[in-house]
Amino acid sequence: MDLKVSRFVTSPPFETNTYVLEVLGETLVVDPGEGISRFVNEPAFVLVTHGHCDHISGVPELKVKKLFVSKEDSHMLSDPKANLSADFMDWNVVLDLPFEEIEKFFNVLAVPGHTRGSRFVVFEGVVFTGDTVFADTIGRVDLSGSEEEMERTLEKVRRFFSEIPKDWLVCPGHGEVVTVGELLKKNPFFHE
Ligand SMILES: [Zn+2]
Repeated sequence: MDLKVSRFVTSPPFETNTYVLEVLGETLVVDPGEGISRFVNEPAFVLVTHGHCDHISGVPELKVKKLFVSKEDSHMLSDPKANLSADFMDWNVVLDLPFEEIEKFFNVLAVPGHTRGSRFVVFEGVVFTGDTVFADTIGRVDLSGSEEEMERTLEKVRRFFSEIPKDWLVCPGHGEVVTVGELLKKNPFFHE
């Protein structure tokens, strides 16, 4: 599959990476943050790696064909306390729209820790890691997450990265995009 992936930095001041993919003539938006409508106007499928506000605050700006999220994080869409907009933003993010369970339609890896329902979304050649794994560190567990879950997740993710091609792209929720090979070199959580 030939994937075209674009990255846009959204949700100031959080600087969230929103990714836009063209797949089989459809537009897929991963983690639409506030301001995404400056880049995307066409009807789109929305994929959410986890339910924090900076990854979903751009959803109201989009013509959403369908929204995909894990079952465990789905309550965060409409709960400003749970999605943290009540604490971290000057408006409450309340998305009143139906969702589909992301695992039923996409290839995902369950990576609880940053949030209970965090997911990697995996395409041939590209892995969207949300706020679980960044280029040179991992995500916080003090924002509705769990340290024990993150420990287990890291074991699983180490295995996962060791098994996929090293030239695949790792597209995190913040910061730079790297290849799997680069991540294994520069991220201390993945050193042998
Ligand atoms: Zn997050």
